[in-house]
Amino acid sequence: MGTFLFNEIIFGPVSSRRLGVSLGINLLPTDYKFCTFNCVYCECGWTLKSDKKIKLPTAAEVNEALEQVLEDYNQKGKTIDSITFAGNGEPTIHPDFEKVIDDTIASRNRFMPQALISVLSNASQLNKPKVTNALAKVDRNILKLDAGTEKTYQLINQAQSHLKFDKIVDYLKNFQGNLIIQTLFIRGEHGGEKFDNTTEAEVSAWLKLLTEIKPKSVMIYPIERDTPEEKLEKIDHKTLRNIALRVEKLGFKAEMY
Ligand code: SF4
Repeated sequence: MGTFLFNEIIFGPVSSRRLGVSLGINLLPTDYKFCTFNCVYCECGWTLKSDKKIKLPTAAEVNEALEQVLEDYNQKGKTIDSITFAGNGEPTIHPDFEKVIDDTIASRNRFMPQALISVLSNASQLNKPKVTNALAKVDRNILKLDAGTEKTYQLINQAQSHLKFDKIVDYLKNFQGNLIIQTLFIRGEHGGEKFDNTTEAEVSAWLKLLTEIKPKSVMIYPIERDTPEEKLEKIDHKTLRNIALRVEKLGFKAEMY
């Protein structure tokens, strides 16, 4: 199936289901997906193991590229809703992530003060204080939690490091509510193993984790684009709606896409 890569540091703006008119920042290589997970549904394709030397843009290059675009929009009277860190993998891998966030906040304040800064992250780097510090500064700290149990987390997200699910949940709790949880619901099969994060056992376990993490809101969505694994099933609207209602019963805002 046709997965794709973003071929620039700054991309878009795109009309995002979740974030409105969103200008993307890709801190990863433009010709290679670089991630700590290997999600079966990743629109960038599989995470490849390679000895290739990975070259990331410097913080200065990112800031220069962003300022050029924002200044141009500013002069033309164009507006955006979000400056969003996403792209070809996990943005918090970038070694100068905190500096990039500080620069982006300053540029946003100067050229586009109404835009919110959003980070879409898989939460795998939360053991690094510089990453958690940076995420605490952005307007929308959107962190992935696609499972209620270790087994399903491993099957869907296929973490490349030895990071355990319980540890990630602990780090999510440390934000003390200053985060948005994003969960993609899916069922399917990969490598002969079946998974389904919509079963009663999975959803109950995931809801219990939400009560401990206490997020500001929860983003719930199905697959929408091409995926590297073909044996995946899109979850229907009614099932997602029932899950969203259960989230709201717990007192959390649920947003369905
Ligand atoms: S965390 Fe995001 S970028 Fe990484 S494999 Fe999963 S979907 Fe792709």
